[in-house]
Amino acid sequence: MHIIQQPIFFMLKEQLKQIPLRLYNTFSRQKEMLVPLQNNHVRLYTCGPTVYHYAHIGNFRTYVFEDLLRRTIKFFGFTITQVMNLTDVDDKTIRGAIAKGVSLDVYTLPYKKAFFEDIHSLNIEPAEHYPAATDYIPQMIQMIEVLLEKGIAYQGADGSLYYAIKQFPRYGCLSHLHLEELQAGASERVSNDEYDKENVADFVLWKKYDPTRDGTIYWESPFGPGRPGWHLECSAMAMNLLGETLDIHVGGVDNLFPHHENEIAQSEAYSGCTFVKLWMHAEHLVVDHKKMSKSLGNFYTLRDLFDKGFTGAQVRYMLLQTHYKTQLNFTFQGLEGIKSALQRLNDFIQRLSQIETDLPGKHIDSLIQEAFLQFARALADDLNISAALAVVFDLVREVNFLCDSHQIHRLQAQQILELMKAFDSVLGVLSFNQQEEQISQELREAFENRLKARQEKNWKLADELRDFIHQRGYMIEDTPQGARLKKA
Ligand SMILES: [Zn+2]
Repeated sequence: MHIIQQPIFFMLKEQLKQIPLRLYNTFSRQKEMLVPLQNNHVRLYTCGPTVYHYAHIGNFRTYVFEDLLRRTIKFFGFTITQVMNLTDVDDKTIRGAIAKGVSLDVYTLPYKKAFFEDIHSLNIEPAEHYPAATDYIPQMIQMIEVLLEKGIAYQGADGSLYYAIKQFPRYGCLSHLHLEELQAGASERVSNDEYDKENVADFVLWKKYDPTRDGTIYWESPFGPGRPGWHLECSAMAMNLLGETLDIHVGGVDNLFPHHENEIAQSEAYSGCTFVKLWMHAEHLVVDHKKMSKSLGNFYTLRDLFDKGFTGAQVRYMLLQTHYKTQLNFTFQGLEGIKSALQRLNDFIQRLSQIETDLPGKHIDSLIQEAFLQFARALADDLNISAALAVVFDLVREVNFLCDSHQIHRLQAQQILELMKAFDSVLGVLSFNQQEEQISQELREAFENRLKARQEKNWKLADELRDFIHQRGYMIEDTPQGARLKKA
């Protein structure tokens, strides 16, 4: 946390210990106080991307929420180990690699790279571990062997290995499904990685190799060549890196069933321990109240929004500002509104940074204390982000008023800037170094104008803008997805 060594901030940090951080547990359907299993250390597992395409803004809604959770946990003084997996083997990546006639590694690499670039643009703090599923195949095989020994896994007529959900009476405990009501479906088997509640069934742990479907992509195992089921991948990586019981497991609501349900079944049958203490799920993002889809033309990747001139901070703010359990309706009008809200906050920071008068000024300790604790209490209430942002804007209004009446001088301005930094350790959207921001704004504009000039065949202007970009230490790189700005 970026809190400077001023007595008031020491005191406030102490007071945070009195505020319990409460989070909504999908499992128990109520808010619960976060109490890590090991001292003050939180072990967090977050389901990561399947690296077969560029992630869309709906995916990033979940990743930004997870970052808000991570930063909030740290704000309250906990330490953290976060794991986010990269699913590089499943139905989709195999299909994609075969269609392109390349190996799985070659196929997934650019999408892995793009994912890390994208989370960096959104100022998402890196997790401690990003395991790739293909690096954990021996651990997955070992889990299946134990499940076979326990009579929970079995070989289907097609040669694949399945999980017998009837052998796990708690099946359905997370999604609150009642297995006895689903007996008809439950006698079937499903070998696809993804399916819905209509098709509750024994799910695949090891998918037998089929040369016409899988090309040359397979791994050897005691049960014959094949590849792991998607659900098993997360269980194996989570338990190997974080232990058999995790403090928090998070994902998008679309992963709740069957993915997370299956993770519980596999992990708990394997270890005999509770797999996760607290489950959290982020709601969907829709565009203009419609489901995002390529056929409707309302499908956006992060890159699409950058091409339209929006910045990472603006997109992050947009994805952050709706409570994670509420469906987020994305509109360009909304994003324009975000632009001015963020500008207002950055103008405020700029104004405070320029105050240089060393006069006594107003005593503002109680103002700071009140704002800090209100912000903390809002977050402690299951990440109530609207209330937290309201605290920030109220503070801006009040301090602007004090500035107008010359009651804020350098000392007070510095204190308020420290408070804004403490807020931003959670929000991650503000600019404290606006000179750099200014340069990147100029660069982005020059870059876009150059694209426009080229489309209009105005080569002279395009060349001038390219030179301008070069002079600023940047270059333009042509990629299959279009031109991009890159530091020279
Ligand atoms: Zn997962």
